[in-house]
Amino acid sequence: MEVIRTLTALVFSERCPYCNDPVEPCEIACPACYDKLQRKHLAIKGGARGFRCVSSFVYDGKVRRMVLRLKYHDRIQYIPQITGILADDIIGAYGEKAFDLITAVPMHSRDLKKRGYNQSELLAKSLGKSLGIPYHDTILKVKRTKKQHKLKYQERKTNLNGAFALIDKDLIRDKSVLIIDDIVTSGYTLGKCCKALSKGKPKLICCATIANAQHKYPESSVI
Ligand SMILES: [Zn+2]
Repeated sequence: MEVIRTLTALVFSERCPYCNDPVEPCEIACPACYDKLQRKHLAIKGGARGFRCVSSFVYDGKVRRMVLRLKYHDRIQYIPQITGILADDIIGAYGEKAFDLITAVPMHSRDLKKRGYNQSELLAKSLGKSLGIPYHDTILKVKRTKKQHKLKYQERKTNLNGAFALIDKDLIRDKSVLIIDDIVTSGYTLGKCCKALSKGKPKLICCATIANAQHKYPESSVI
């Protein structure tokens, strides 16, 4: 096994982001480090907004590195493995066949052009295939906003005002909708997207993310 791993590393030059051991290109970590990643099988009540969110991991240092690689360094090969983990957690939290359609938190078209892909959309499409739920674009990001993680907590509340617009009301009327993002921190981004979706009068909206960083914002809207 060790020989195979070493050969794999020589061929693909892929390394575990935590210990630098060889990994398969699709692996988010080597088996030893993967076992140490903090998992969080928890559905969070949406507080005043009333939307539930399930996340597979706690957004700590290790998971943060993985998500940042996926997001900014083209590691879209992580998506199949993350899909497997998150699909299990979605079924665990919401049950089988709970949704009519799956969608993703959108990026502004200019940001999408710059990055070349929207990792949340790729993940949502992959999850849709795995769970047997059709993927649809449902909301547009119509306003370019500052990066939420660069703002102070109070500024996060208003930064996203007017940022998201529903594409097609008829598409989601009376439907159960699952919306995907990479991480949930203060909950404002997902909250605003859920609010935009609500205008289409869906039956149900639930959220799922790779990781949850709400421990950083215990006063946030996701609790
Ligand atoms: Zn490792």
